[in-house]
Order: sequence, then structure tokens, then C-alpha cells
Amino acid sequence: MSRTPSYQQDNDRMEFLLTLRRRGIADKAVLRAMDEVPRERFVDANFVESAYADQALPIDCGQTISQPYVVAYMTEQLGVQPHHRVLEIGTGSGYQTAVLSRLAREVVSIERYRTLADRARDRLKSLCYDNVDVVSGDGFVGVPGGAPYDRIIVTAAAERLPETLLDQLADNGGVMILPLGAQDGSQHLIKLTKLQTETRRENLIPVRFVPMLPGQAQEL
Ligand code: SAH
Repeated sequence: MSRTPSYQQDNDRMEFLLTLRRRGIADKAVLRAMDEVPRERFVDANFVESAYADQALPIDCGQTISQPYVVAYMTEQLGVQPHHRVLEIGTGSGYQTAVLSRLAREVVSIERYRTLADRARDRLKSLCYDNVDVVSGDGFVGVPGGAPYDRIIVTAAAERLPETLLDQLADNGGVMILPLGAQDGSQHLIKLTKLQTETRRENLIPVRFVPMLPGQAQEL
């Protein structure tokens, strides 16, 4: 007998959370946020059936919505508190933005494709995620007007650490997570913590992200 779509989706969602827990995501607030955000609303219509599979999927402008495990892992590592203001570089579909918005006081997200920024803004608004501000612009410049941010998350891979972003991170405990590495080479997630006299650097897991490119995208 064929399953109704909603039954299938309930099943997929249960499996989705189990997979995150099995892979080591333990933070209850992060798991709750992952449970709350309807991922099917952020994927392309052609991929709705795979919305809860643990894989990255294509979105408009040749970009991707990140794999759920990587979204949960980065969010957990970021250690977001309810009073935090967060800057995200690379809005894409707005999925990671939505997850962060469930945990933080405010999320500012910047995207170099105007089309993606506009669609993500509409989507987040229609889901009543009101503590987010989606900006169209160049993430290498960041959003200095709102700095300093308690947390910064970059969801596109840069070859070198963007120092401008580090300048926009809060002193004394600010945390930034970003994928670093060449587009066709190996990339690693890096966690930077600004301390009183130094910035501590930790290497996390190997990852694969689309490249962080300079400037706003020229669209037709
Ligand atoms: N967080 C997204 C993942 C999107 S993929 C999600 O959950 O869907 C990474 C995104 O970073 C792409 O949309 C790409 O256009 C964007 N990007 C790449 N370089 C950028 C830059 N310099 N400034 C802003 N966005 C950038």
C-alpha cells in the first residue's frame, strides 16, 4: 500500500532527528530548533521528498542548502544563547538563518545573490521568524553597522580567514565558525574564540561548502 505524503513526512522527520542524535548532536535547544523549522519550506519544489534526508540539496543560483547534520553541528558548536546577536554570511535558502533565529535574540544574514536574499526574506517572513534581517551584499565586508556580534557563522568556504569579519566579532568570548580551504581541495570547519589577549583557533570536522566569492553577484 502506498503511504500518504504526510505519513511519509512524519516518518522522515522522526528519522531526521534520530540521525542527528545518533551522529552526536546532544544540545536539546539545537535539536528542538531543528525539529521546529520546516525544512521542506526551504528546499526547491523538485526536492521536497528529500527535504529530511541527511544531504545537501541544490537551490537557486547554483547554490546549495547545507546538509542537516552540518547545520546542527555548526549551530551546536556556535553555542548560541538567547541574548545573542548573530551574523550569518551566506543566507542561501534561509534554512540555517531560521534555525539560528530559534536560539538567538537576533540574526543578521547577508547573501551576495539578490534573488536568494529576497526569496529567503519572504520565506522567513511567511513563517513569522521576525527576529531576522536578511541583507543583500558582500559577506567579505560583513554588516559593520550592526557590529559587534556575539556569534558569526560563515556558510561558504573562504580560502583565507576574512579579517574584516573577525573585527566585527565581540571581544572577550565572541565565537566565529567558518569553513576554510580551497574549493577543489580539502576544507575544514574552524572555530575561533576571541579571548582577552588572543584568538583561540580549533580545527573541527572536514566539510564541503560552495565557495565564498567576493562582491555582490551580477545577475541577469
Ligand atoms: N546557509 C545556507 C547555505 C547556503 S550556501 C542555507 O542554509 O541554505 C552558501 C551561500 O553563500 C550561497 O547562497 C552563496 O551565494 C553565498 N555566498 C558566497 N559568497 C558570499 C559572499 N561573499 N557574501 C555573501 N554571501 C555569499
